[in-house]
Amino acid sequence: MNDEAPLHPDTLAVREALPRSAWGEHSEALFLTSSFVQPDAASAAARFAGEEDGFIYSRFSNPTVTSMERRLAALEGAEAALGTASGMGAILLVMLGLLKAGDHVVCSRSVFGATLKLIGTEFAKFGVEASFVPQTEVAAWRAAIRPGRTRLLFAESPTNPLTEVCDIAALAELAHDAGALLVVDNCFCSPALQRPLELGADLVVHSGTKYLDGQGRVVAGAVCGSRELIDGRLLPVQRSAGVTLSPFNAWVVLKGMETLSLRMRAHSAAALELARWLEQQPGVARVHFPGLASHPQHLLAMRQQSGQGGAVLSFEVAAVDAAAARERAFAVIDATRLCSITANLGDTKTTITHPASTSHGRLSEEQRAAAGITQGLIRVAVGLEHVGDLQRDLARGLQPA
Ligand SMILES: *Cc1c(COP(=O)(O)O)cnc(C)c1O
Repeated sequence: MNDEAPLHPDTLAVREALPRSAWGEHSEALFLTSSFVQPDAASAAARFAGEEDGFIYSRFSNPTVTSMERRLAALEGAEAALGTASGMGAILLVMLGLLKAGDHVVCSRSVFGATLKLIGTEFAKFGVEASFVPQTEVAAWRAAIRPGRTRLLFAESPTNPLTEVCDIAALAELAHDAGALLVVDNCFCSPALQRPLELGADLVVHSGTKYLDGQGRVVAGAVCGSRELIDGRLLPVQRSAGVTLSPFNAWVVLKGMETLSLRMRAHSAAALELARWLEQQPGVARVHFPGLASHPQHLLAMRQQSGQGGAVLSFEVAAVDAAAARERAFAVIDATRLCSITANLGDTKTTITHPASTSHGRLSEEQRAAAGITQGLIRVAVGLEHVGDLQRDLARGLQPA
């Protein structure tokens, strides 16, 4: 036995936090306070000057938020983490902290819709340019880099809803050769299945709203990375920008992370079983899930994601044309009684959506076609219900009328 061996992530998921308070509470305390009383004027001065550790004001830091950050950092294998008000708040903070006018970003064209808008539209107003490239083509990423101007590469893997997987290690090498940083949105796998920093990424962003909470209760986010990037570059911006995580939401996520790896294993196993079953259904033309051998990046996903496919899958219903496909997809969705028709994911409850008319509804028909979002496509974020019940729920609409 090596007593000095680092603790396993499963242990850190339940144990890593600030020390308990003088009251000896077993469950981590929720510090719902906006500010902190300073022992004396000199300490207040030293703390404000950053010469002494201590909590000042909850826009800067808060013990419950710090516990959540420490736990997430431990799971991602990061030196530091910073909680944010939402997943988008985390991405905003990264952009604000690391970019200036004239800089250039290369981003997968399959990332989360709000991310596309933030990078492509909002930051364009401040002179930050972006190129959007096919997620899985490393050569396209390479070709899009503008030497001396590209500062960030931004990827998400697997993507929503087609579960495209990018080669994180290859993109990290590309970024570093160009003097840029790689940012990975690790929302779909969570650190229980994928640790992008170990693959060479510089920053990981999270929507804590999804699997970290895992029960659909709060909106939250975080960024993980080196102390230099998190404390040196992003924390000062957070103090001014105020995309701060509320202590209450931090506490919910902190407790949610205790069961993260158990949940992810159960979610993934159920998703694989459901995906294999869907592949056998006559009414289904195609299933997108990294855990299936038929997935174009199956081997890469199995290497990169602890051998598990994650919990989000999508499938296309068979139909003669787009109008018929949309009608069939709506029929399948409306025939469900268990699956919740909602765009969220990462919940114990299975959710079902029609991306072409919801998350990707604002795209033009050509943009949707380029992105592979057909009218027959249905996305399922598999929850923790019994998989037999989910099969029956989907079978109802898939059976030919
Ligand atoms: C939901 C989501 C986000 C945004 O997170 P919020 O907490 O809703 O702001 C970002 N990326 C991915 C992949 C998501 O699924």
